Amino acid sequence: MSTTNTLEAARVELLLSELRLPGIKQMWARLAEQSDKEGWPAARFLAALAEHEMVDRGRRRIERHLTEARLPAGKTLATFDFDSVPMVSKAQVMALVSGDAWLARGANILLFGPPGGGKSHLSAALGLALVENGRRVFFARTTDLVQRLQIARRELTLESAIAKLDRYDLLILDDIAYVTKDQAETSVLFELIAARYERRSMLITANQPFGDWGKIFPDQAMTLAAIDRLVHHATILEMNVESYRRRAALDRKRGRGRPAVHATLKETEPTKAD
Ligand code: ADP
Ligand code: MG
Repeated sequence: MSTTNTLEAARVELLLSELRLPGIKQMWARLAEQSDKEGWPAARFLAALAEHEMVDRGRRRIERHLTEARLPAGKTLATFDFDSVPMVSKAQVMALVSGDAWLARGANILLFGPPGGGKSHLSAALGLALVENGRRVFFARTTDLVQRLQIARRELTLESAIAKLDRYDLLILDDIAYVTKDQAETSVLFELIAARYERRSMLITANQPFGDWGKIFPDQAMTLAAIDRLVHHATILEMNVESYRRRAALDRKRGRGRPAVHATLKETEPTKAD
């Protein structure tokens, strides 16, 4: 490279940093060389650079969204054994991942089932697939998030804390029933549910369908109001299977296939308008 070229190259690098175009910065020298050698028209060179930056940006965006999602590691749809949860159809889950109309209208998913049945795994895997499809997701143990919101409430910033969660297309609240008594005495969870109603989606997992929910909210009226909002536009998946861990352990011991499981699956229709 001549001195002029070297200087020019240094200037390009500087400008690209200043313009925050890391994708182009990384690629331009190689593409310029190819372009010079093959005599590309300038527009082709420029298009190749711009395209590279676009792809790179998309990739970095998804990486950022993955970090912010706080998903438990290693829970993917590929490693989820749908055969052991026959009441949850793989096709339906795949449709939830690829068709995002439900996210656009703030519909919910409610996942019920006994401990070890795969609720956390499936919800994390769904979240991951949605992030990979360009959506923003946040996964939290319900009690952790409620704790954060309680602190915000004490600091008089509850409204903005809830508003900040609006950036997520889907908020996954794992184990809603584990909210503790003192957490249930504040209404932060209800306020979150009310704020997202018909706008932003939630995926909620619980061991019990609604039975225990009286313990989660300050009073019965609020419990009913919360349930009403959550189920209004919701897909309900009941994973009535025995603990996957327990079954896996038993299968290893017995050296045979898994025991049969029983199934229910339903989708609630919008029942009434509030
Ligand atoms: P839950 O949240 O319902 O208590 P988890 O999702 O934590 O259950 O499942 C318990 C363990 O069993 C996890 O390690 C999870 O990855 C695994 N597991 C549960 N169901 C399945 C499944 N259908 N396929 C693969 N792994 C599963
Ligand atoms: Mg769980």
